[in-house]
Amino acid sequence: MVKETAHYDTLGVAPDATDDQLKKAYRKLALKFHPDKNPNAREEAEIKFKEVNKSYEILSDEQTRTVYDRFGKEGLEQGGGGGGGGGMAAEDLFAQFFGGGGGGGGGGGPFGGMFGGGGQMREQGPKKARTIHHVHKVSLEDIYRGKVFKLALQKSVICAKCDGRGGKEGAVKTCAGCNGAGMKTMMRQMGPMIQRFQTVCPDCSGEGETVRDKDKCKVCNGKKTVIERKVLHVHVDKGVQTGTKVDFRGEGDQMPGVQPGDVQFEIEQKPHPRFQRKGDDLFYHAEIDLLTALAGGAIYVEHLDERWLTVEIMPGEVIAPGEVKVIRGQGMPSYRHHDFGNLYVQFDVKFPDRIVGPKDADGYPTSMTPQMVKALESVLPPRAPQNIPPPDAMTEDYSLEKVDPMQEGGRARGATGEDDDEEGGPGGERVQCASQ
Ligand SMILES: [Zn+2]
Ligand SMILES: [Zn+2]
Repeated sequence: MVKETAHYDTLGVAPDATDDQLKKAYRKLALKFHPDKNPNAREEAEIKFKEVNKSYEILSDEQTRTVYDRFGKEGLEQGGGGGGGGGMAAEDLFAQFFGGGGGGGGGGGPFGGMFGGGGQMREQGPKKARTIHHVHKVSLEDIYRGKVFKLALQKSVICAKCDGRGGKEGAVKTCAGCNGAGMKTMMRQMGPMIQRFQTVCPDCSGEGETVRDKDKCKVCNGKKTVIERKVLHVHVDKGVQTGTKVDFRGEGDQMPGVQPGDVQFEIEQKPHPRFQRKGDDLFYHAEIDLLTALAGGAIYVEHLDERWLTVEIMPGEVIAPGEVKVIRGQGMPSYRHHDFGNLYVQFDVKFPDRIVGPKDADGYPTSMTPQMVKALESVLPPRAPQNIPPPDAMTEDYSLEKVDPMQEGGRARGATGEDDDEEGGPGGERVQCASQ
């Protein structure tokens, strides 16, 4: 059972869909709603397209899908945002983000503008190309152990053939139309008024330079830069916190006349299906049965480095529902220190829905034998009845009956709003109240 199905609904698949079915559904919808394929309803298509992409991003990653199945949207938000790059190698993901092909990305879209925006930047005349910023999503396992990611990026580099001139030496001329500014002030007569306005120079298309086609550099086609693939090694150190930034100075885009830009990676931890992290500490939910809570037993915690922790609960330790215990030193490694945070375990105690005792005519266990009751009484604190009536009060005797959810569920819900407890307990009591 999954908690929510919204992302599955978006892709039109069942919650038990295989990776293959997900991918097929995603491809179909991404094509259908691609903004370029819907010129008449572009905006609506774009919204749908983004939804489809987001749902696929979450469901195609095993970890984020598990978190979504168990805790829904809320779980993903708690853990810090959506999913990563669905089973693709990180390199592919990166290439996809940066417009370099890659699998199943559904088109550059919002990321198309990250590269090659040179013209715009030159107009504003910055001294340095802009920083390329990329959020790199990392699993808690990788943060626990530390890992070096090889990420490929496609960037503009100065064309080596023409040294960034765009053509043969001497063939590239400052545009006479705009004096190299790329912009021109034009005048236009509107009735009695003369309007002045700025426009991109039509002679050089804003480049500020002109070169005859036959003199253009054959390698960069006059663009002065070429696209190059560069692999960067991103060190995700043990215990790094979400939001940590890793900088590569000067590894960004190159453009003639300006300093190369930087590349900055921001580490973002993906939500984890078993652990929540706060600082260096980990939080874990363990469900135990009543017998283990009272008489001891063990729980097993699968850690982040393929170890399994066996945690002994001593007989008589008595673990209350919701109680939190700590295993020291089994949290996350501290960033650049040689110690570890703690692992906090919160216990959910599951009460039995039946006892193992004598059976009724239908074979269902019903009650305890006096010996069983005695055994319990010998280890548990005595009964402490609440709300005892005064000695002179008039009392009547009643017993509790089971509530049949099929027959009385409707009434119970009607009486209490939404409660549909199956077993006697509060539900039954409220049904009685309501019918008085
Ligand atoms: Zn060139
Ligand atoms: Zn010009």
